[in-house]
Amino acid sequence: MLNLILMGLPGAGKGTQAERIVDTYHIPHISTGDMFRSAIEKQTTLGIKAKSYMDQGALVPDEITNGIVKERLAETDTKVGFLLDGFPRTLGQAQALESILKELHKSIDAVIDIHVEESVLIERLAGRFICRTCGATYHKVNHLPKVEGTCDRCGGHEFYQREDDKPETVKNRLSVNIESSAPILAFYENQSLLKKIDGNRDIENVFQDVKGIVDIKK
Ligand code: ADP
Ligand code: AMP
Repeated sequence: MLNLILMGLPGAGKGTQAERIVDTYHIPHISTGDMFRSAIEKQTTLGIKAKSYMDQGALVPDEITNGIVKERLAETDTKVGFLLDGFPRTLGQAQALESILKELHKSIDAVIDIHVEESVLIERLAGRFICRTCGATYHKVNHLPKVEGTCDRCGGHEFYQREDDKPETVKNRLSVNIESSAPILAFYENQSLLKKIDGNRDIENVFQDVKGIVDIKK
């Protein structure tokens, strides 16, 4: 069992590293952002509720977010472990996660925090594009598919840019996340679970550091 949390501000490279982690360690990727985007696409009640917050770059309220994570972690595929990406994002969520895990007789093995300079984050979000078929993440300058217009991971040909990667929304997302993440980092530091990684390097170098941490825990 390998239970991981991936932290970092928007654009730090969580989704990019998550792809590599799940392909290497075969644990389910639980991204609250992906869950909300999928609910919006399907126009479910959850999606309708989440959309107004996401459009403004605000956080979806804890009671909604905690509920979907609780349901997801109770699914049987998490028996082998899980990778939480983008959750917890508030201290309230971190505390709720403690009680969810206690109920499920699970615990966290490591919290990996990818640190990236703010000016770099803005460039990364502005250039991000995503495969519509498998969700793989690319960048206009830093990380293009090997064959132009074809996803490396699934061969898909359709890509999109996220609505909330517009510069107006990005500013708010960054400030909201900077403020809310500080107490969570302290919370996990106190439990000696926090592992910090320098994310201002290329994707493969960052992944080598991730592997260094995960290989000790597995
Ligand atoms: P997050 O999930 O933390 O918001 P992403 O993984 O979606 O971040 O990455 C944001 C953007 O930055 C994407 O366009 C991605 O291709 C690019 N990117 C991710 N990691 C790196 C890196 N180490 N160096 C350069 N660009 C990166
Ligand atoms: P992400 O894909 O992780 O960048 O998240 C996109 C958006 O989804 C965020 O800007 C929030 O509006 C919402 N969201 C994702 N995860 C959470 C969370 N843990 N708590 C609150 N809102 C979230």
